[in-house]
Amino acid sequence: MSVFTQIDFDDHEQVVFARDARAGLKAIIAVHNTARGPAMGGIRMYPYASEDDAIRDALRLSRGMTYKNALAELPIGGGKSVIIGDPHHDKTEALLLAMGEAIERLGGRYIGAEDSGTSVPDVKVMAQRTQHLSGIHEKSTTDGSTRSGDPSPATAYGCFVGLKEAVRHRLGSTELRGLRVAIQGTGSVGLRLGRYLKDAGAQLWVTDVFPANLDRAVTELGATAVAPEAIFDLDVDVFAPCALGAILNDDTIPRLKAAVVAGAANNQLAEARHGEALRARGILYAPDYAINAGGIIDVCYERIGFDATAVKAHVERIAATLATIFERAASEGVSTAVIADRLAEERFKR
Ligand code: NAD
Repeated sequence: MSVFTQIDFDDHEQVVFARDARAGLKAIIAVHNTARGPAMGGIRMYPYASEDDAIRDALRLSRGMTYKNALAELPIGGGKSVIIGDPHHDKTEALLLAMGEAIERLGGRYIGAEDSGTSVPDVKVMAQRTQHLSGIHEKSTTDGSTRSGDPSPATAYGCFVGLKEAVRHRLGSTELRGLRVAIQGTGSVGLRLGRYLKDAGAQLWVTDVFPANLDRAVTELGATAVAPEAIFDLDVDVFAPCALGAILNDDTIPRLKAAVVAGAANNQLAEARHGEALRARGILYAPDYAINAGGIIDVCYERIGFDATAVKAHVERIAATLATIFERAASEGVSTAVIADRLAEERFKR
């Protein structure tokens, strides 16, 4: 296949194909841009249908990390790695160690972390072969307790802060009491976001395809459960997608009654034009990679010196970033998604 003429190739600095036949490793490490610092991004493991699919995913995801990390004003660039394989059947200690060695060979230009298909324990195994990993250490919190390297709590907090900013901008209120919010997906992030909203007095509707997660949210949050397809039609103020991507599309956007879309899911827009479709309907969209940056902020601080107070303050800056995006989008008459990309580019092309 051709790489340089691929639609997803965007002047990536380096793309490495890592192979260890004995360990069964086939992986791609993509370093998109290191203008702000070493490229950081998760290590995904997925049973890709073809090698082309894996290359495309690595190219696309690493570029996305450059934009996310720059927009969050972190001293890191964008990268991502993918391991071709089924995480339920193909993951062995030898494979994880071989992946650690592949990352080590890049000498610190790429820093990996857990992602879909890999866990904190998996990354700890890779850490036997390389120091260029993050998101693995126990951390102190601002209340003095400790927690694991899992970035979800920081992601959820960033989403809460960002959702409040979007509500302030679109609905002109700093009060969340009585705010009606629909959460799609009550997993690690969605449930935690729900807790913040419940404590602030919001009224919640939830959905999930995994019954245990849904039941837990209903019990813990006092939320109303709805069927997965019904979540788009609710008469609510905010729609918070916290499950999967491409949920803002030609089918769902006309159905939304919410004035604000603010949630953690990655790649929420099915296509770039859907940012404009939301704007045309008067729906304020908090760009996904701006509002869900809490996790990467948390993971990044593990590399540059973890300080719970500094991390919290940095995560809270998501509100200021979103405020800038909302104001520029309004004054320039374009979608918030377009402005998020422009702002990120200003920050990594500087
Ligand atoms: P998770 O797997 O813990 O939770 C996702 C939940 O969504 C699960 O309970 C799952 O059953 C549910 N779900 C899946 N398909 C669904 C559907 N069609 N309808 C309703 N529910 C559905 O994942 P998470 O860590 O909470 O992440 C949620 C989203 O946020 C993902 O898109 C993830 O990529 C993104 N994100 C997460 C983080 C993080 O720190 N965890 C950081 C940035 C972005």
